[in-house]
Amino acid sequence: MPDFLDFIKKGQFRITICLSCRKKIWPPSSFCSYCLSKTKFRKIKNAGILREYVYSYKNVDCQKTTFGIIDLSGIVLIGSICDTTVYRGMKVKMTSCGISPDGKVFYHFAPSFENNNMNK
Ligand SMILES: [Zn+2]
Repeated sequence: MPDFLDFIKKGQFRITICLSCRKKIWPPSSFCSYCLSKTKFRKIKNAGILREYVYSYKNVDCQKTTFGIIDLSGIVLIGSICDTTVYRGMKVKMTSCGISPDGKVFYHFAPSFENNNMNK
């Protein structure tokens, strides 16, 4: 079975789904935490909802970065958001994911304008 990080290295986000009860298993695991059956990696929709956010100011250049808690079809992730105007309940989509040079998994999100009311 491929590893979650094998997908992330290629910029692909995958979660595990139980082959028996079909539940989403997060964090990824080879076995279902509900019924102990085997799981399989699957893609999920990259669209999510911003539940909470915070601004961070990097020390050197005082550049503002937004980080948020994003609900991605029931999977909760912490990621950066490339927009300065954010709000709770905002629809976002994952634009990229991967592993940074210092070995940390990252997720980037952007506003999903086709679904937000502010674009109507
Ligand atoms: Zn199961």
